Amino acid sequence: MSEKKLYFCDELNNVLSCFHDRIMSCCSGQIGPVYYEAYRGQKIDWDAFKQFKIDSFKLLNDEDIDKSPCKGCFFLREKRANDFISPKFNMINISHWTHCNCGCIYCARMLDSKGKIDLKPMKSQYYDMLPLLKQLYKHDLLDRDNLIACIQGGDISILKEFEPMVKEFLKNGVKRFYILSNNIIYQPIIKKLLDNNMVDYTTSLDCASRDLFYKLKRVDKFEDSVQNLRKYAKSKYSNGITVKYIVIEHLNDKKEEVKKFVNLMADIGIKNIEFMIDNKYVLFTDLDNNPLPSHYGDLYLYFKSLCEEKNINLRLWEKTEFILNKYALH
Ligand code: SF4
Ligand code: SF4
Repeated sequence: MSEKKLYFCDELNNVLSCFHDRIMSCCSGQIGPVYYEAYRGQKIDWDAFKQFKIDSFKLLNDEDIDKSPCKGCFFLREKRANDFISPKFNMINISHWTHCNCGCIYCARMLDSKGKIDLKPMKSQYYDMLPLLKQLYKHDLLDRDNLIACIQGGDISILKEFEPMVKEFLKNGVKRFYILSNNIIYQPIIKKLLDNNMVDYTTSLDCASRDLFYKLKRVDKFEDSVQNLRKYAKSKYSNGITVKYIVIEHLNDKKEEVKKFVNLMADIGIKNIEFMIDNKYVLFTDLDNNPLPSHYGDLYLYFKSLCEEKNINLRLWEKTEFILNKYALH
């Protein structure tokens, strides 16, 4: 009798994703094993929680894979002899709220937030993360020495429990943070994390003028965002900051805008820029039949040459790289 072929997934093993609508294994784009559907802060049966991960792995073989939500996932690979199911996660994605103090036209959360702009800090509409985080540490489910904590969602600056959560991580053990914010409100704790080389901090400015900022984000907060960036850029490890330029057709897809942006970044002292094509556009456009605007390739090459001149590291978001190579760089 031939042996069953066994599969493995490092995401399932290492990652816990706390989203506003579910707590699940990965954020691969495929809905993998879900620990809790529509979690709303109820008491968790931690033995069942741990067992769920083990049971999800049991389906990763060629006889049972049809019963697994992982079937067909790009991340599945053949199991190796030294693979083992870890009792702990070494990456936690926290994205359990959708409220935000701006309204980017490319926001992937727009359907959930209904485009509402909230100005004051508040609790998540779905559940509190801090008690859950304490429980995860208490039940020894987080790898205190190697944990990467990714915090994104709506905006951190108007999530009441943002700073308490960061402090909880620091108290219990965390290796590094990855934090996304629109940068409209200054967060002293982010400055401290940057000074201690503990964070990759990413923000999207997307432009270099107040008018364009308003068109892209529907709030008149360009100056605040730039001033806050200047404060963060004075950190001891400012290399941890990345500023995105998300390109939107007919708005910021012009060479003069890109030039103004790169000059502003050089003036502030930003060392990393990420060029990205709006993900909503990528997801909802049939690119084979509606080709990517042809000038996007030129725009990227222009961006690259300006960044080289200013000694700024220009990254491409991986989906953007794939699409540019396929449709715009020949
Ligand atoms: S195989 Fe894919 S869907 Fe399943 S846990 Fe891994 S990344 Fe998620
Ligand atoms: S800052 Fe983020 S969450 Fe807020 S509107 Fe923009 S994309 Fe959406």
